[in-house]
Amino acid sequence: MISKRRFLLCACGAACATAALPVRAALPPISMARHEQAMRQAIEEARRNPVYPFGAVIVRGDTGEVMARGVNNSRENPILHGEIACMNDYVGLNGNKGWGLMVLYTTGEPCSMCMSALVWAGIGGVVFASSIDGIRRAGIAQIDITARAVAAASPFYSGLLLGGVLARETDRMFMDRPKG
Ligand SMILES: [Zn+2]
Repeated sequence: MISKRRFLLCACGAACATAALPVRAALPPISMARHEQAMRQAIEEARRNPVYPFGAVIVRGDTGEVMARGVNNSRENPILHGEIACMNDYVGLNGNKGWGLMVLYTTGEPCSMCMSALVWAGIGGVVFASSIDGIRRAGIAQIDITARAVAAASPFYSGLLLGGVLARETDRMFMDRPKG
């Protein structure tokens, strides 16, 4: 099963766009320009928490419409990472349905908790900017399990997984954050 699934983790631009076709039939092909446009919205969300700038948006894969937003709020609740906050916002606004048509964009690679939640939701795709290594280099502790490892350990899941989109910008954002 695992060998049949395709994962793409890259830090490059348009050269990888044609290889980034989603595995899920529910998702149409998404250009790198569209990925970057959505990631910029996740970055805007992240700026609401300058110390821990983990922001996320969930967009429709076919139209790019933003369906939900979230930013890390772990001061209030330890599980409110940006991705979880965004998933909660999604369910509140749209109900617990339609996940396979959606792509979550996040400024930092989902941790094992968040990636597991996204797998359980059956989300169509996950696109992140900074890698776990990049976040760690900025002095933020990380559990050393990649999003790819979580997806690979989930034989029932076959969503798009793409990393490195606008990572140069988000790596700088994490590095330059005020130390809280
Ligand atoms: Zn997380």
